[in-house]
Amino acid sequence: MAMFPSQLLLSSKHLKERILQPLFEPHGVELIVSHGFDTDNYGTFCGSIPRIEGPKTTVKEKCLAGMSFANRRQGLASEGSFGPHPSSPFLSINEEWLVYIDLDQALEVYGHSISMDVCQQQTNHQRKDLDQFLTSIQFGAQGLVMKDADNGELIAKDITEYVQLMDLIQEHPHWILETDLRAHLNPTRQKNIEAAGKNLIERMRSLCPQCAKPDFSVAQYSGQLPCSWCKSPTNTYEFRTYRCAHCQHQLREKRMDLLMEDPQYCQRCNP
Ligand SMILES: [Zn+2]
Ligand SMILES: [Zn+2]
Repeated sequence: MAMFPSQLLLSSKHLKERILQPLFEPHGVELIVSHGFDTDNYGTFCGSIPRIEGPKTTVKEKCLAGMSFANRRQGLASEGSFGPHPSSPFLSINEEWLVYIDLDQALEVYGHSISMDVCQQQTNHQRKDLDQFLTSIQFGAQGLVMKDADNGELIAKDITEYVQLMDLIQEHPHWILETDLRAHLNPTRQKNIEAAGKNLIERMRSLCPQCAKPDFSVAQYSGQLPCSWCKSPTNTYEFRTYRCAHCQHQLREKRMDLLMEDPQYCQRCNP
C-alpha cells in the first residue's frame, strides 16, 4: 500500500511546499496547496491574531479544516512556534510540527523537530549597529519587520532589500527591527521544518510488526545506564519502548548506541 496519495493537500501558507516537496518527491507525492484557504486564521507571528491552542492541537485543526475546505480524505499541515527553552528560559527554541491525516486509514501521524538555532532578534534605532545586525542575521534571505519603538505597532513587513530598509528608516526615526518569523523569510526555520518533514516520513516508514500500520515509534525511554567508571546508575536511559498507536503492540529494546555513560554525566563521579 502506498504511504501517501499521489497528490497530497498541504494546508499552509508561506511557501512551505518549497521546503517539503523535495522530501515527498521520492515517494511519488506531489504536494498541492489549496488557495483560498487562509491559514492565518490559526494565528500569526506579528501578534495580530493570537494563537489559542498549543501548536500540536493547532496543526491538527488546521489540517482537518483544510481537508474539509478542499474536500479531501488525506491532508498535510504544518505549524511552528517560538518560545523560551523549558530548562534555560534565556534561550529561545523553535518547535515545528507537521501532521499527516488519512481519514480512510484512520491515520494521524506527527512529525516534530525542536531547534535552538533560532533567528529571533531585534534591534533598536541604533543606526551605528545596524550593518553588523544585518550581517549577523543574513539579511536578504532573512526578512525583517519594522515596528514603532513608541507603541510597538507594525510599520512594515516583507523587508528584504537594503534600499527599502533605508527608505523606511528615513520615514520612521523611532524604529525597531525584528527578524520575520514566517517560514519563507526565515532560513533557520526552513531547516527546522525540513527536519520535521524528515521525522514524519521516518515515522510513516516505521511499520508495526503486529498490524503493519505506520508510526511504530518510540513512546517511552526507561532504565539507567551505568557509569563507565563507578558502575552506579546515571540519569541516561537504557531502553526505548516502541508503541503502536493502533493496536497498542509494544516492544522494548535495549539501546546499542551507548552501553555505559561517561563519568562526566555521573552524579557520583561528577556531582
Ligand atoms: Zn500495531
Ligand atoms: Zn560514576
